[in-house]
Amino acid sequence: MLGHMTASCSDNSVPLSPTARSTPRRHPERARADRAELYALLDEALICHLAVLVDGAPVVLPTGYGRAGDVLYLHGSVASRSLAAAADFPVSVAVTLVDGVVYARASFRCSMNYRSAVVHGTARRVTDPDETYRGLAAITDHLAPGTWSYARRPSRKELAATAVLALDLGESAVKIRTGPPRDSAEDIAAGTAWAGVVPVRTAFGTPEGCPSLPGGVAVPEHVAARASAV
Ligand SMILES: Cc1cc2nc3c(=O)[nH]c(=O)nc-3n(C[C@H](O)[C@H](O)[C@H](O)COP(=O)(O)OP(=O)(O)OC[C@H]3O[C@@H](n4cnc5c(N)ncnc54)[C@H](O)[C@@H]3O)c2cc1C
Repeated sequence: MLGHMTASCSDNSVPLSPTARSTPRRHPERARADRAELYALLDEALICHLAVLVDGAPVVLPTGYGRAGDVLYLHGSVASRSLAAAADFPVSVAVTLVDGVVYARASFRCSMNYRSAVVHGTARRVTDPDETYRGLAAITDHLAPGTWSYARRPSRKELAATAVLALDLGESAVKIRTGPPRDSAEDIAAGTAWAGVVPVRTAFGTPEGCPSLPGGVAVPEHVAARASAV
């Protein structure tokens, strides 16, 4: 049924939630259709959670990632059981940003403001050396922009110890909640309890040099730029 989704979706005009299993049913008004919102979320968040079956039981693991066009790259040790279990098997990846804690007048209505994405697909083990490099560059520069061209590239031995997986972003969903609590009219009319949102932000701090740095090595521009990013 989902065979048509396994081809790479290289057209960012293809709407999100293209299949039944990737269509949010609960609070469908929070679902987004614009693929650009998926890209923005993936590019801003730092980690994802990879759901995979290991020996027949589900495991969810936090991990880094990188995006190149409509492909999400994941990497890890060739000895990683979860990556081995994911290769060429159906997986799901979730990416979450919490933007606020929503305080409601009724505990039932307390919530979170968030942007989240869920990707469904079959993870493909990358074997082509050029794509391996592209995938690792995407992962490295997603975490630490500018580092792929600044730091030493992986050696042959390091490459041999690293597994890279590619997941097409064709079958993805994005859900976004914004705004104040949705209290009932009765609770709003009832009284004086405070209600509102406490924003949540992830911030980069001042770079702390490695103790083994020789004197005179300045913080490079790409690191300073990250540290001053809002
Ligand atoms: C930070 C955060 C906190 C949350 N807290 C709660 C909570 O406490 N309780 C609760 O019930 N729900 C919570 N949600 C919402 C939750 O993620 C689900 O959307 C919701 O529970 C509906 O689940 P369902 O199984 O009915 O999904 P369905 O609506 O049946 O999901 C169908 C498909 O829609 C897509 N989808 C579903 N949810 C999301 C999502 N969040 N982001 C992107 N795509 C999605 C997936 O492709 C999924 O397979 C939270 C979400 C976030 C991001």
